[in-house]
This record gives sequence, C-alpha cells and structure tokens, in this order.
Amino acid sequence: LRSPYSGGHLEVIVGPMFSGKSEELIRRVTRAVIARQRVQVFKPAIDDRYHETAVASHAGRTVGALAVPDAAAIRAHLAGEGPLLGARAEMPDVIGIDEVQFFGPEIVTLALDLAEAGVRVVLAGLDLDFRAEPFGCMPELLARAESVEKLTAICTVCGAPATRTQRLIAGQPAHFADPVVLVGAQESYEARCRVHHEVRR
Ligand code: ADP
Repeated sequence: LRSPYSGGHLEVIVGPMFSGKSEELIRRVTRAVIARQRVQVFKPAIDDRYHETAVASHAGRTVGALAVPDAAAIRAHLAGEGPLLGARAEMPDVIGIDEVQFFGPEIVTLALDLAEAGVRVVLAGLDLDFRAEPFGCMPELLARAESVEKLTAICTVCGAPATRTQRLIAGQPAHFADPVVLVGAQESYEARCRVHHEVRR
C-alpha cells in the first residue's frame, strides 16, 4: 500500500513562538539530507533581496536557507535551476519554508503546485498572530495539508503547555488594534497558555 506521504505532498508545522517549529523543520530537513535527497529551504527576507542565510532555532541549531522577498521569488529561483514544474529531476525532492505566515496568499498556490509536481513541501509558521487570531495564509495551508503538526511551547507565567504568542510593548500586553507585523517597535514576545494570554482592547 502506498503511503499518502510517499509522493508530492504538503506538511505543515504550526504553534506559537518557542514551540519548536524551526527545530522540527530542521529535524525533518536534516533527515532528508541524510537520505541523500535534494533539499532547499527558504524563509522570508526582512529586506527585498535574495540572500544566503540560515534557519536557526531558539536553541541554536541551524540549516542553510535562502531568504526571499515573496513567493514569486521562490518560483523564480526554482525556475532558474530548471523549468519550475517541468523535469522532476531538476527540482529539489524536499522544499522547506520557515516563517511561512509572512508570505502572501500566493504561497498557497506555490505550495500546491510544488506538491502536484512531486515535491515534499514542509512549511513551518505561526498558526495564530499575537491576538490569537488566525495568521494570514495559515488557515488555508492547514486545510490543504496532508499532514499537520501543532506544537506547544511552555507558558512563561505558569509552565502549562502554551498555544499562544504574547506580544509585550515596553512590558505591557499589546492592543488588539496594533498592526500584526510591527516594524521597529520596542516589542518582545512570550509563549503563553490560553489563561495567561492577554490582549488589551
Ligand atoms: P519556534 O520556531 O516555534 O519559535 P524554535 O525551534 O526556534 O521555536 O525554539 C524552540 C526552543 O526554544 C526550545 O527547544 C527551547 O530550547 C527554547 N525555549 C525558550 N523559551 C521557551 C518556552 N517558553 N517554551 C518552550 N521552549 C522555549
């Protein structure tokens, strides 16, 4: 019997900050490299340019990655190595993307095209934003994935499993109306359980 995961497919890893999403992505990618598969990891670039970088977990493990401004840049990069959805031999066997919540809706089409083309697509990202609302493209990716892993962190207040990300501005819970992506603010983040997650209204 063929496994539902033996051909191209979509795996999604979600959870709050510090839940080990990057660790899990690195673990899966490292195993693929050990199996001599061709692997390419991407992550969103802060600025608008491609560059070689790494996905790093909070515990310090890293794997090489290419930072890209958007989903179109991933497509272009893959096309440069061979026709994007053409010869399977020229495509990576495994494509990993970290921080996938920062990509726009085009990432969904790209992930599905890649899975259709036979690629194992492993995506890691925040399922919820700092308000505990579904984050951008994530609901669609979760619905369309063959495999979903929800990880928990540890609540910094009580030690319970944490499913949410607390945003603090100068030590105070952020407001619901704050932008989802903050630029240049004095912010910090903590993992929190449902009880200790706070959003000011
Ligand atoms: P994510 O990608 O989900 O943000 P990482 O893989 O980067 O998570 O980091 C997970 C690591 O963070 C854990 O293995 C642990 O060493 C560390 N860590 C720090 N704070 C916490 C916390 N509150 N709960 C769980 N792990 C934490």
